[in-house]
Amino acid sequence: MPNSLVTICYIVAAVLFILSLGGLSNQETARRGNWFGIIGMLIALGAVTASDAVTSYGILAIAIFPAVLIGGTLAARVKMTEMPELVAILHSFVGAAAVLVGLGLQLDTQAKPLEGIEFTIHAIEIFVGVCIGSITFTGSVVAFLKLRGSISGSPLIIPARHILNLIILAATVWLGILFVGHDVNAFTYLLIAMVITGILGIHLVMAIGGADMPVVVSMLNSYSGWAAAAAGFMLGNDLLIIVGALVGSSGAILSLFMCRGMNRSLISVILGGFGTGDGGGGTPMETPEGDVTSIDATETSTLLKNARRVIFVPGYGMAVAQAQHTVAKITKKLKENGTEVLFAIHPVAGRLPGHMNVLLAEANIPYDIVLELDEINHTFAATDVVLVIGANDIVNPSALDDPNSPIAGMPVLEVWNAKDVIVMKRSMGTGYAGVGNPLFFNENTSMLFGDAGENVDAILAYL
Ligand code: NDP
Repeated sequence: MPNSLVTICYIVAAVLFILSLGGLSNQETARRGNWFGIIGMLIALGAVTASDAVTSYGILAIAIFPAVLIGGTLAARVKMTEMPELVAILHSFVGAAAVLVGLGLQLDTQAKPLEGIEFTIHAIEIFVGVCIGSITFTGSVVAFLKLRGSISGSPLIIPARHILNLIILAATVWLGILFVGHDVNAFTYLLIAMVITGILGIHLVMAIGGADMPVVVSMLNSYSGWAAAAAGFMLGNDLLIIVGALVGSSGAILSLFMCRGMNRSLISVILGGFGTGDGGGGTPMETPEGDVTSIDATETSTLLKNARRVIFVPGYGMAVAQAQHTVAKITKKLKENGTEVLFAIHPVAGRLPGHMNVLLAEANIPYDIVLELDEINHTFAATDVVLVIGANDIVNPSALDDPNSPIAGMPVLEVWNAKDVIVMKRSMGTGYAGVGNPLFFNENTSMLFGDAGENVDAILAYL
């Protein structure tokens, strides 16, 4: 394919990716945005394959077909609740790709030797690409293991951790200077930098506590974008630079939004240490205790039937129980009964940014009754029944009342202001942040124990 045509394809693909991001910013246009992204990626793949950059179709086929097969099978099999882990591990692949591209270019003996400023720029591209790729790779693998529950979600706080990070940073810069300086040991410096930035990636994510994981996921998304952009620079591929920059900057903006949603500063999250259980205040938080009131599905249905306004608060447990379709049917029944039904979405509910919106959209719940935290928080006081479906941390009043709570300062859905609160969960166990929840002991709270899926089925049957 002539170069001019390849460039046109790249421009069309880049425009489609921008339209895709624009579309994904709104629930009503998200499906269209997704299609723009898919078409853009197909055009990009087609153009790269047909360009001069590919010299052996055999090798390309050997690389692509097994990858498509494995990726397709895994994606088709993955459960909705495993999506966060899948996203984390996919970020790690981008990091690994950037590292491999950098190492490959450095080892390439057939490449045209570069001199002067061209050499320096190329060397910086390789060094930065390998370092960002390495942090992204190891950080994402740790995030994957934390989200999967294979390693503990609580932060690993080693003494003098900030100094350790600074030493690694300084050593990386020093190795970078040596690497760029034409030294015969350049490859060794690159390998050492790869290993120590990999350790930095592990340490940075290990130090971040459970409740701050949403920011980590979006930050690693951003890093993966910058790693892709670095690979684009190394390979001289403009489209990869554009796509990487789009992912990198949108991930960074998302991280800022998630931080705002949790009332944290980005710097404090990156430096880690939250979620230790003492909230940074020195004294451990109080463990909530007292008597809880249980309720059954029939009593819950009666309360719902007699309510004028009901708010559903979905959380991670709804995703586990896959209760959204039955909840949609209950919503329809209640609306037919003349009840006003609303949904309250917390920015960090579930295990992925936008997790609950995806579930509700899947169940065709109308978007106009799905409200964000700041749109709905003042409505709870004028609500008869709040049904908390498998949510815990996002409705924990200790975030507001207890400065020693690991989630202190995080805005939460103030469900306790409603007349009656019903919490659906299987036990008195804690949520992702591992924090006890005083809400369960309130006088106006009743616990509907059991699997949320079975309980919503029972409520629907009664209604
Ligand atoms: P939580 O993890 O706080 O609570 C979920 C609750 O659901 C649990 O307490 C569990 O209780 C209950 N549950 C699980 N399975 C079922 C089931 N089958 N039926 C009924 N209940 C069930 O979730 P939230 O959504 O309230 O809060 C999200 C948390 O995850 C926050 O701490 C957030 O920081 C963190 N996080 C969010 C990410 C994001 O991007 N959104 C990413 C990573 C972490 P029990 O076991 O007793 O049933």
